[in-house]
Amino acid sequence: MARVFSGIQPSGELHIGNYLGAVRNWVALQDRYECLICIVDYHAITQAYEPELLAQRTFDMAVSLLAAGIDPERTTLFVQSHVPEHTELSWVCTTVTPVGELERMTQFKDKSQRQESVLAGILNYPVLQAADVLLYRADIVPVGEDQVQHLELMREIARKWNARFGEGFFPEPQPMLSQARRILGLDGGAKMSKSLGNTIALLDSPERIWELLRPAKTDPARVTRKDPGDPEKCNVYSLHQYFSPPATVREVAANCRGAAWGCLDCKRVLADNIAAEFAPIRARAAELKAQPERVAEILADGAARARVIARATMAAVRTAMGLMPSQGDRVRP
Ligand code: SF4
Repeated sequence: MARVFSGIQPSGELHIGNYLGAVRNWVALQDRYECLICIVDYHAITQAYEPELLAQRTFDMAVSLLAAGIDPERTTLFVQSHVPEHTELSWVCTTVTPVGELERMTQFKDKSQRQESVLAGILNYPVLQAADVLLYRADIVPVGEDQVQHLELMREIARKWNARFGEGFFPEPQPMLSQARRILGLDGGAKMSKSLGNTIALLDSPERIWELLRPAKTDPARVTRKDPGDPEKCNVYSLHQYFSPPATVREVAANCRGAAWGCLDCKRVLADNIAAEFAPIRARAAELKAQPERVAEILADGAARARVIARATMAAVRTAMGLMPSQGDRVRP
């Protein structure tokens, strides 16, 4: 069975953007692939963050993933820093990665422009990403379009290492592009992101969902209730396409074009449909939050399963690179 690796930042609870853009797909992939899902806390610390909140946000992300349908029996769910081989392989990968390739990365250019002093962690971020995937010799990586360049680099790192130390050892991971279009935030401008405050969280109450959705940006042509609108220019309509049944989506479009209802009516229907879809997820999350030791157990078990693969990979890598083997480290690629 092909192996799939996915990573997600420990940003606390999931929101609609990362649920639709990634997690809903991961839940479906569990039936067809061997899946590993890693909460990438070592990636998170390359940006400004609050150390006293990181562990809680990591826990909250684990709760959200489990509540959203990630099944720890079928998927290996774990925290990146619980498997130290990630950073070990990352170092190895830096030794075959040209700095020029890292400086060409669009995300590096964006992030470094916003900082006075650019940290090496930001430059090396895609190398750690490569190590995350190569450590498990994963075949497939589900990605959004903004990650395709990093995946190409990952493949190049695999090729370079293989050419020098062990032809064919690391498979070149293939991208699986997300079917979801880019999910815009409630401001209708930027991508939905917790740091921009334009999200609806999966665990928000129905009241909170309505509070957030009520002021959401719509087609500016609808100044008054009598002005017809164009649903294709409205992010609320895009969200209806994810959360409302097809008949409702058709009704929304017709009511918008014919000015048969106001935007608040339209948003009310959407708020109710989002709340209904997330109701079972909220209930599962509440159960998990009430037993944090169960969540910790799941993550420990996931890390133990991941480490079996990670240790074997690192043992083979060290041997192939000529490092002096320690006991039990005698596997050759
Ligand atoms: S009626 Fe609905 S789809 Fe049309 S602009 Fe208003 S919120 Fe958007």
